[in-house]
Amino acid sequence: MNEHESEKLGGILENMGYIEAENTESADVIVFNTCCIRENAEQRAEGNIGALKKLKKSNKNKIIAVGGCMTQQKGRAELLKKKFPFIDIIFGTHNLADFESLLKRKLETGKSFIEISSDEYSMKECNYVSRKMFPSALVNVMYGCNNFCSYCIVPYVRGRERSRTPENVVNEVKSLVEKGFKEITLLGQNVDSYGKDLTPSIDFADLLKMVNGIDGKFRIRFMSNHPKDVNEKLCNTIKECDKVCNSVHFPIQSGSSKVLKDMNRRYLGIDSMNKIEMMRSIIPNVYVTTDIMVGFPGETEEDFNETLEFTKKARFNGAFTFVYSPRKGTKAAEMPNQVDENVKKERIIKLVDLQNSINLEHSLNAVGKQVTVLFESFNEKDGLLSGRDEGGKVINVYHNKNLIGEFKNVKITKANGITLYGEII
Ligand code: SF4
Repeated sequence: MNEHESEKLGGILENMGYIEAENTESADVIVFNTCCIRENAEQRAEGNIGALKKLKKSNKNKIIAVGGCMTQQKGRAELLKKKFPFIDIIFGTHNLADFESLLKRKLETGKSFIEISSDEYSMKECNYVSRKMFPSALVNVMYGCNNFCSYCIVPYVRGRERSRTPENVVNEVKSLVEKGFKEITLLGQNVDSYGKDLTPSIDFADLLKMVNGIDGKFRIRFMSNHPKDVNEKLCNTIKECDKVCNSVHFPIQSGSSKVLKDMNRRYLGIDSMNKIEMMRSIIPNVYVTTDIMVGFPGETEEDFNETLEFTKKARFNGAFTFVYSPRKGTKAAEMPNQVDENVKKERIIKLVDLQNSINLEHSLNAVGKQVTVLFESFNEKDGLLSGRDEGGKVINVYHNKNLIGEFKNVKITKANGITLYGEII
């Protein structure tokens, strides 16, 4: 979400005639698109902003703007301005589409200002996007979240769920496909809630069918799901739609029902295991990836062992693993029984080791199989062309870079650890 918003800010600037500068010294405008999902992300942003003090002093015409989730937190913009008075523009998550007028205001008046809107429902479309991920493109289907997981700041800084109309989503995807993009990732904090605020009624599976109906050869991915909302209709739609990848990101967070209750996730361990089984029974060769957090307040050794058992049984095709860190402004940060940092470290090591061994097994099993790869990048140094299969697994082949943006059938010939190599057939 954050990366895509940076692409939008870049698009607005390019449309105004700016081009990307080589470094901060030569830049006329520096925009920070901050994230506040973790406190250390904020600390890093502050460190990077602070590092510009000298530069700004030596060139008063350089414009420094700070936006994103960090500034949208209550009272944060004022604190930021106090700490770094040289910032010219501080804007919030709901002001992003207005960045052109904010920058013009600064250029015309020379005055610095804070502009934080709380009008999350205005949902202005951003018409300019500087795409950085060719042949892949990110497309928002909705913004915000209603779930209020107890560890998460997102609903406070991104507001309640708002869906883009299916027409706007379809038109954006159509135009991307016409421009040659080959992989579209539909984005939402919880895509399964798509359409709940729209009339006539539509859900995410319906939207997938509409996007799948667009002419052209391209893939559709989506993220992220909420385990409580994944249902049979979604699984059947993934199975039936030829362009939708057989891959589901399914963030379980924990295998312990007690911890899940404290996280306010509104499902039990057994519910998510049943849903994984449902996905595997409906969608042929589905890849299921996940997010897992360890060290949530009150997580006992027994709870953590349940997560390990769950991971062993689920055999995820990939997992993003995290250590819980308290996020000011959330319920979990105030909970008693915060887990000792050393215990968290021990647990994450055990979990990562386990998932690595599962990843290795999946990679070894993949050798000999044929997959369709969309090539994305080329490494000049070692002459390797890299792309992803439907499940998102990276496959490397020795080939020139002409094939970037193309689909090819590849036979996987070797697994070096979890890194896969193949030959085009
Ligand atoms: S569903 Fe995701 S974005 Fe929404 S509150 Fe929970 S963790 Fe945060």
